[in-house]
Amino acid sequence: LVGPDGSLGTTIFEEMTGLAVRHGAINLGQGFPDEDGPSAIRELAREAIAHGENQYAPGKGILALREAVAHHQERFYGITLDPETEVTVTTGATEAIAAAILAFVRPGDEVLTFEPFYDSYGAMIALAGGVHRTVPLEAPDFQPDLDRLEAAFGPKTRMVLLNNPHNPCGSVFGVDVLDRIVELATRHDAVVVSDEVYEHLTFGVPHIPIATRPGASERTLTISSSGKTFSFTGWKVGWMSGPAQLVAAARTVKQFLTYSSGTPFQGAVAQALRLDDALYHGFASELQGKRDLLSAGLAAAGFTVFQPQGTYFVTVDAAPLGFSDAATLARLMPERLGVAAIPLSVFCHEEGARRTASLLRFAFCKKEGVLQEAAARLAQLG
Ligand code: PMP
Ligand code: GLN
Repeated sequence: LVGPDGSLGTTIFEEMTGLAVRHGAINLGQGFPDEDGPSAIRELAREAIAHGENQYAPGKGILALREAVAHHQERFYGITLDPETEVTVTTGATEAIAAAILAFVRPGDEVLTFEPFYDSYGAMIALAGGVHRTVPLEAPDFQPDLDRLEAAFGPKTRMVLLNNPHNPCGSVFGVDVLDRIVELATRHDAVVVSDEVYEHLTFGVPHIPIATRPGASERTLTISSSGKTFSFTGWKVGWMSGPAQLVAAARTVKQFLTYSSGTPFQGAVAQALRLDDALYHGFASELQGKRDLLSAGLAAAGFTVFQPQGTYFVTVDAAPLGFSDAATLARLMPERLGVAAIPLSVFCHEEGARRTASLLRFAFCKKEGVLQEAAARLAQLG
């Protein structure tokens, strides 16, 4: 992604969606659902546009949405937040990640992430002049080794940026991992930034925000988004929450990234956050069915499947089918098989890319018929 000369290439999502469109392939690459979120919420955005909510929102976001985020954190996790100072609306989680990194990372500061890592992390750390250190997540369970985690910390560690539930691996971190991160971040006085965009998309395991762990809240910024939970990836409404001092620093940066975020969507997302528990559970259980359907198809096609505990994604190993280079396979698949996927190596630095060379990520946030058709096409690989 970040070339040796510091250049940024085209994101893998752009590349693979481009190939899928060109070849009319089923796009299980970029993670977006093929059905939109609740119609009542869409109607609210339509009404907001019709009723004149079309000019700049306040930079920190409309009050109704900041209150809804605070209410959501209290309702699901018992976290108390002041919507005035401890919550900020962003243009998707992507902007929250960028603002947090630009606010805290100075050239030479080290940022620790797990690897594979979501692609914008690497790009933003590079743009901030930070040094990116990684701790591997390895098959089959993609949980970190806690000794390696400890060894990755050092005197220059400024930030730990975690993604839980984890894209692309689908792992969900438990209290042992979270508590060790907090302990090490505290010892090294590092900021914790936790990207929890898949917080409601776990399958039979609880999502535990790191901010709820002892000693974490005063150093943790939590990031989420309406894209994945409510199937509105195109609305680009995200948010961050945490102690006023950390939020203020990220808000300062946000002023100069986008100033403010799309006005008519904010009120609608505020209402989405207040939907009944049953709807939240419904999204997750429907997605779990899709995970099972695609996983079964991938296993039948001959891949080794690593069953994810959360997210939109399942990781598979193509080695049993004779493919050791998943990046090449992924670039051929849209044309040859009519299915697009993402190689895991693109979420890694060099050594990690070697380790994950035969792994592929498939998105299962698609209609059942689409997943069945994709599985049928992939069966030709065997
Ligand atoms: N972080 C992770 C781990 C993601 O998978 C994504 C994609 N939803 C984002 C951040 C970006 O979220 P958004 O589309 O809200 O900017
Ligand atoms: N988060 C989505 C994924 O991992 C894609 C977001 C994007 O296209 N930048 O597939």
